[in-house]
Amino acid sequence: MLENFMKNKILVTGGAGYIGTHTCIALHEAGYDFVVYDNLFNSSREAINRVSTLIGQTIEFIEGDIRDAESLKQVFAAHHFFGVIHFAGLKAVGESVAKPLMYYNNNVSGTITLLEMMSEYDVKNFVFSSSATVYGDPESLPINEESPRSCTNPYGQSKLTVEHILEDLAVSDDRWNLIALRYFNPVGAHSSGQIGEDPNDIPNNLMPYISQVAVGKLDKLSIFGNDYPTVDGTGVRDFIHVTDLAKGHVTALNYLNKQTRSNGSGTAKKNSVGFLPINLGTGKGTSVLELVSAFSEVSGQAIPYQFTDRRAGDIASCYASADKAKMLLGWQAELSIADMCRDTWHWQSMNPNGYTKVI
Ligand code: NAD
Ligand code: UDP
Repeated sequence: MLENFMKNKILVTGGAGYIGTHTCIALHEAGYDFVVYDNLFNSSREAINRVSTLIGQTIEFIEGDIRDAESLKQVFAAHHFFGVIHFAGLKAVGESVAKPLMYYNNNVSGTITLLEMMSEYDVKNFVFSSSATVYGDPESLPINEESPRSCTNPYGQSKLTVEHILEDLAVSDDRWNLIALRYFNPVGAHSSGQIGEDPNDIPNNLMPYISQVAVGKLDKLSIFGNDYPTVDGTGVRDFIHVTDLAKGHVTALNYLNKQTRSNGSGTAKKNSVGFLPINLGTGKGTSVLELVSAFSEVSGQAIPYQFTDRRAGDIASCYASADKAKMLLGWQAELSIADMCRDTWHWQSMNPNGYTKVI
């Protein structure tokens, strides 16, 4: 029984990316086998090489696009997967406003093609990278999974649309087990300093921007608004260490295993999971100024900043109720804001140019 459990094979789409690479390590540590499928649109082979080195094992990597049904077919035909963790997608909010078709095509059409292939090969366990963005501007805090959903940009709409597709799929056939993990604000890096977030351009998100200021690549941080109704007027978010987030995926798979495996005497299912949305956050809000101050303290670097206008579409505060993850998955975030800043700084200072610098 334990041996079967340990040998579960998982397809990880987008596994060369920021959250995917950390999750590959967590999967390995938990005894799962996995195959990475990624078109390297926003990642590099170097990331895969480094994960291989960290886990001491070659990774089975396939360069392919989730919209390419033929390529996916070959992958599903060649492996017997227990389930799929689906990270592959585009994630830049601003870009999605400028290029909505690209976002819907990649994030929605690509996911449909993947789900069709899963259906064809009878792989019914799915863990989807959703986002707290599906909650829009929350009516109340902390945000729980029953909070109303609404989105104001194509990126958010693409996540919400996939959630609706998953809900419909669950209704259509109760053999589907579909977990949507709604991430809050993933930050940090692997404690080795070997893998981390590697934005292509000037970062849009706060933590990579701060770390590039700290390392001297950018002059100063612009803080978008200091007149929000928050502790110090700056925006508040629920930052979560990417290593904690990665472990959340393993607990989701363990849950699917527990719910759907036979009891050892046959192949009968135990329970259908249906569509199950779960927040992955710490439950704690941290303001922009608090994060700047924590980073400065941990890194020993000054982080010059200026206040500018609010960024269009930003909300004042966003933090999770993480109770459902704790209750159902037995998961809770363990790492602190100081840990997040320390590991980001470690990665940034060891790799000032991301994966392009050979170390
Ligand atoms: P990332 O860009 O680092 O990783 C995504 C990976 O998917 C990349 O390696 C990219 O090359 C690959 N990819 C994109 N389109 C593909 C396609 N059509 N076929 C195959 N591979 C493709 O992003 P990330 O931060 O690791 O995010 C992973 C997932 O989590 C994304 O779906 C993202 O929307 C979601 N998410 C991220 C955040 C965040 O702040 N990082 C927050 C909430 C949700
Ligand atoms: N932020 C900022 N300057 C930046 C980037 C972000 O002041 O250069 C603020 C932003 O207004 C928000 C918080 O930092 O209040 C988190 O922004 P991020 O883009 O990282 O996450 P999101 O807003 O998508 O939750």
